[in-house]
Amino acid sequence: MLARILLVEDDPTISRSLEQALTAEGYDITLAIDGTSARSAFRTLVPDLVLLDLGLPDADGVELCREFRAAAPATSIVVLTARQEEADIVVGLDAGADDYITKPFRLAELLARVRAHLRRPEATEPDERVTAAELEIDAGARRAWVAGEELALRPREFDLLVLLVSDAGRAVSRERIMDEVWDENWYGSTKTLDVHVSALRRKLAEHPRARVPTITALPRYGYRLDLP
Ligand code: CA
Repeated sequence: MLARILLVEDDPTISRSLEQALTAEGYDITLAIDGTSARSAFRTLVPDLVLLDLGLPDADGVELCREFRAAAPATSIVVLTARQEEADIVVGLDAGADDYITKPFRLAELLARVRAHLRRPEATEPDERVTAAELEIDAGARRAWVAGEELALRPREFDLLVLLVSDAGRAVSRERIMDEVWDENWYGSTKTLDVHVSALRRKLAEHPRARVPTITALPRYGYRLDLP
């Protein structure tokens, strides 16, 4: 089945070349040129991936990103922005985007990122259950619980948690995480990793009385998951 991509972009020069290139790659593309049509296309399509321009004539792209994320946790959202400021980028990622690409971008890079986001997670052993204090993971079912309550994890958050738990107590380098959780051909910024770690920490801390592992940042190296 073709992956469905919703392209939200009001600049016809950009949208025309993107639509052409993505169609040539074999994706099923729907174009929306403003926030209103993006909202209705999103509802009917439930796309696998959204390429979302933040600067739209009638809508706040960050708000739109938040809505899409809430409506469809499994959809990948890649934000397109002319803003280069790190603060703006973090706002987008915090609103639920999986990734961002700054304009002007190289088409080859954008296509590589789209491919990476649409890559299916590798199949894991069907009954691979891991317990770390009060955190329990069923890798086969792709589900995780803290103190018996299920965590709502996005796909990369889940993969990241599985990787860190599988090497609990040991330092895991950013390069390894990017290779295994994202894609070996990833050549964007790894800021997205830090945003995913923050989200994971927030979710693990939702049960303040539960004994759960903590994620420690190792400056200029990566992360380590520590058992309580
Ligand atoms: Ca725009």
